[in-house]
Amino acid sequence: MKTLKIAIQKSGRLNEKSVEILKNCGLSFENYKSSLISTVTNFPLEILFLRDDDIPEYVQDGIADLGIVGENVIVEAKAKVSYLQKLGFGKCTLKIAVQATSNIKNLEELNGKAIATSYPVILEKFLKEKGIKSDIRTISGSVEIGPGLGLSDAIFDIVSTGGTLKSNGLKPFADVMQSEAVLIGNKSITDNPEVAELLQRIRSVLSAKS
Ligand code: ATP
Ligand code: ZN
Repeated sequence: MKTLKIAIQKSGRLNEKSVEILKNCGLSFENYKSSLISTVTNFPLEILFLRDDDIPEYVQDGIADLGIVGENVIVEAKAKVSYLQKLGFGKCTLKIAVQATSNIKNLEELNGKAIATSYPVILEKFLKEKGIKSDIRTISGSVEIGPGLGLSDAIFDIVSTGGTLKSNGLKPFADVMQSEAVLIGNKSITDNPEVAELLQRIRSVLSAKS
């Protein structure tokens, strides 16, 4: 029997809940903080601890059979994977925000404006659907400081409470995408019996919760 591999986030917002759901499925493993791989002792499964950004590609390429990662990261990576199950945690919204003092009122007014983001793929898709042409400026983090520094007219980012926006003189302008953690699988493993067993256990953990 081939040992399956599941990739989860090594540390960050999804790590704890990812470990918890696997433990609640009755899987026994050491949650090593220093190691990148952990072997489940009572199921043919290995757990790979990775940066979340790498998970969609690892699953697409079959280095891992399964993965737990935010939908936003999967869409941004343009990964070709199977969505097996939404997991109900890591919920967030990706929004366009503008300066609190801005008089931009509708989406059309973003035409020709500069938008700073770490999610250019998702933003480009949204703007294209709306027929809007903005100048997308890709930066890897701290996009909120862009408008204040005159680097961009707007930003596109994950917004949870809105506190970070507010403290940078910004206000939410348009919701673009809702995201939560999902279980994904490599396109070729979906009829694997161990995957089916694991998926069934995950679903019963989820339904016991709700
Ligand atoms: P890594 O070191 O693995 O690259 P990261 O810093 O990119 O981690 P985290 O901040 O841990 O990522 O967020 C992981 C995921 O959690 C996000 O991609 C998103 O799907 C989800 N998430 C939920 N709420 C939030 C939030 N308030 N801010 C950022 N991400 C959130
Ligand atoms: Zn990341």
